[in-house]
Amino acid sequence: MSLSEIKDRLHAAERAAGRAEGSTSLIAVSKVQPDERVRAVLDEGHRCFGENKVQEAQGKWPGFRESFGDIDLHLIGPLQSNKTRAAMELFDAIHSVDRAKLAKAIARIAQEIGQCPDLFIQVNTGEEEQKAGILPGEADAFVAECREMDLPVRGLMCIPPVEEEPALHFALLAKIAERNGLSGLSMGMSADFEKAVAQGATHVRVGSAIFGERDYG
Ligand SMILES: *Cc1c(COP(=O)(O)O)cnc(C)c1O
Repeated sequence: MSLSEIKDRLHAAERAAGRAEGSTSLIAVSKVQPDERVRAVLDEGHRCFGENKVQEAQGKWPGFRESFGDIDLHLIGPLQSNKTRAAMELFDAIHSVDRAKLAKAIARIAQEIGQCPDLFIQVNTGEEEQKAGILPGEADAFVAECREMDLPVRGLMCIPPVEEEPALHFALLAKIAERNGLSGLSMGMSADFEKAVAQGATHVRVGSAIFGERDYG
């Protein structure tokens, strides 16, 4: 695959869903990828990227921003409380707001530094023990709690269980977002982003289909 092929598929999915081409943000997930692969995608003009670890992102994105100018950087992985400030200084959006303690830390630091990234609340739609996220039954109350803190909540995010039909989880996330008046939906990865677009995704997070397989060795 390549960036242009993924964009073509994304645009086709948008048309099929009766939506405007280019209305979905394509977050190119560059975690673990070697710099030369990331640079190639930057050279093609793409400017929206996702990382799942604060420290890894701190190592590469300040340099890329210096070379390539403005980059829209999204944190899509779990955020430890002690890295909240660093994340807020580096990222334009955080997709993994998943607990009250973290929301409170973000609110406090936002007051201090006078800025806050766009926030997405992660919902554990599959109610999986090992997975982060607010349980679906607790999502409405958590959205309200974040709003009381004046946090800029743009939408919801989910990672469906691997062995289940993702479309069901995307539909559930869309339903929770709608009843809470949230327009942002961060859902869909390499294997299922077209299904996510069909269910109303506003942000898809695509890694290996753009960059190739990640080498964790
Ligand atoms: C790694 C990752 C992705 C991208 O996964 P691919 O299957 O490579 O597209 C998307 N979302 C999250 C939260 C991730 O950690």
